[in-house]
Amino acid sequence: MNNEVQNNMVVSLDYTVRLEDGQSIDSSIGKTPLRYLHGHQNIIPGLEEALTGMRVGENHPHIIVPPEKAYGARTEATEWLPRDIFPADGEIQPGMTFAVEDESGETYPLFIKEVKTDNVLVDYNHPLAGKTLSFEVTVVDVRPATPEELAHGHVHNGDGQF
Ligand code: ZN
Repeated sequence: MNNEVQNNMVVSLDYTVRLEDGQSIDSSIGKTPLRYLHGHQNIIPGLEEALTGMRVGENHPHIIVPPEKAYGARTEATEWLPRDIFPADGEIQPGMTFAVEDESGETYPLFIKEVKTDNVLVDYNHPLAGKTLSFEVTVVDVRPATPEELAHGHVHNGDGQF
């Protein structure tokens, strides 16, 4: 089916994501729909799974995604790091995110929790780790990915790249 969400299709999606208490934390409504390449881990696994087989125009009001299929369980992953490993010129504040590269070249996010003169408390958990998320989605458009997009594993036009 050409209007169905399947692997290697570029999907345009209107979405609102809420916490369990109903609080909306992000939405594409009033903005550009999210575009991603289906089947390439561009989005969280639980959402990708639920979208598979949905058709253009179809709405799903409550896709419930548990932490293990979203941003993972929350772990005791905090650490004080010396202030001087961070850029000297920029200001560092709680709530900020940095991308860190490990030895294998893999990047992961690091969240600032607390800042003191010489030390910074960082949290390696994603802010949504441990949270069950509820998505409302409407499939806006589906098209086959280009060979270049498939080779890169992400969408190339529209919103830019993920
Ligand atoms: Zn690319």
